[in-house]
Amino acid sequence: MKKIGFTTSFPVEVVFASNNIPIDLNNIFITGDAKKYVEKAENSGYPGNLCAWIKGMYAVGISSEIDAIVGIVQGDCSNTHSLMSTFKDKNIDVIPFSYPYENTDAEFLNKEIYKLEKIFKIDHNSVIKTKRKLDKIRKKLIYLDELTWKENLITGLENHFWLVNSSDFMGNPDKFEKDLDVFLKTAEIRKPFNYDVKFAYIGVPPILSNLYDYLNEMNANVVFNEVQRQFSMPYLSDNITEQYLKFTYPYTVEERLADIIPELKKRKIQAVLSYSQSFCHRQIDQIILKKHIDLPFLIVEADEPSELDERTKLRIESFLDILEY
Ligand code: SF4
Repeated sequence: MKKIGFTTSFPVEVVFASNNIPIDLNNIFITGDAKKYVEKAENSGYPGNLCAWIKGMYAVGISSEIDAIVGIVQGDCSNTHSLMSTFKDKNIDVIPFSYPYENTDAEFLNKEIYKLEKIFKIDHNSVIKTKRKLDKIRKKLIYLDELTWKENLITGLENHFWLVNSSDFMGNPDKFEKDLDVFLKTAEIRKPFNYDVKFAYIGVPPILSNLYDYLNEMNANVVFNEVQRQFSMPYLSDNITEQYLKFTYPYTVEERLADIIPELKKRKIQAVLSYSQSFCHRQIDQIILKKHIDLPFLIVEADEPSELDERTKLRIESFLDILEY
């Protein structure tokens, strides 16, 4: 079994089906000694004014026993090309994967998935069989999400944790499912939370460790984690290509909005926290998001892995003060 790192969600079904272990480099970075990883990348020459997630992924990639890295070179991050070059320079095998520019280009995505299947020497039927197995877990994640926004039984942080980790099922879908079952049983018998404000969190997952806890302290709960939910592939399409065409993250902000706006309505969201990672090209999307989302809208920006600073706490507190609830 080989450990296959990757830079953002891609058809992990292919890797699992080939009996290898996909590892989301982002998750290892943020759950490990994140500050040290950033420092390590900077000591290797990565610039200070570059996104910390990229630095983190680089440091994880060269520090962990990873056999190859799938780099999503189209549809994710403008820095991935250079990240891949620095991996290659360290003699790490790199496998490029691209999403099409448009989410209607099934032919392009089919070819990319077929290329992966060839690299991992696995047939399409086995991939589909694996997808069915993972979809069983994804169904439970949909239920978890419903317990969050319909029943108020799950905190924003717990929702984030399970959805974000479904990008690689923590390398072991069977264990992930068992742990998820235990968690769901515990959550089902809780007394519903009674937070004053229902928040949506949109944008890439936060680099801030206590954001969700702080919102809870302020009597607000996140009941919609946009990108994390996307990582959990909530549409349960029969067809694997369709699944990754419906996944909004790799495409344009218009596709994201087509998912976000109905979810905000359905979940009766009262305010939106839109996260911006410093030095991320996706900051430009804030212009369109703010324009089209007709709800109180707060942009929170962060750079290094850390806790919320006092200034940001004050901004959140003031934002909550002016909401009418
Ligand atoms: S936060 Fe933005 S710049 Fe950083 S890795 Fe993600 S897409 Fe790239």
